[in-house]
Amino acid sequence: MDADESLPYEGGCTCGAVRYRMTTKPMFVHCCHCRWCQRETGASFALNAIIEADRVELLQGEIELINTPSNSGKGQKIARCAKCYIAVWSNYAGAGDAVRFVRVGTLDEPDRLPPDIHIFTSSKQPWVVLPPNTPAVAEYYKATSYWSQESLERRAALQGAKPRH
Ligand SMILES: [Zn+2]
Ligand SMILES: [Zn+2]
Repeated sequence: MDADESLPYEGGCTCGAVRYRMTTKPMFVHCCHCRWCQRETGASFALNAIIEADRVELLQGEIELINTPSNSGKGQKIARCAKCYIAVWSNYAGAGDAVRFVRVGTLDEPDRLPPDIHIFTSSKQPWVVLPPNTPAVAEYYKATSYWSQESLERRAALQGAKPRH
């Protein structure tokens, strides 16, 4: 998927105050077409890189955690720049604080992380045409069916944290 996975994945907010680095590639990348993600992005889908929280380093700036309702009903904490309030990642209650959903569009090179799966395509906006070779599911899915062995082991190392929302 990526020519050089050893390069760090860096990103930041729009005003430039917040800069962060993912120290490795994520475990998995969701393209979520649920109505909640459509509303939160103001667009057609959200693109989230799922990664261990301790592999995301805040390089500069200040994060404000905003408690926000989520599709699951359990809520999410959206990490936003304290100055411009652009969202850089979320923690979903279902997955716990050990897992971050980094917003791929805030990376300097978002093209490096295309989706591993399209989820909640039942509410996909009809003009969005999905590529034939990427898995797509009407709602959610079982990680064991789609994640690589390496990513499943990383998830298991988080002691029962279940990345989902
Ligand atoms: Zn900012
Ligand atoms: Zn969603």
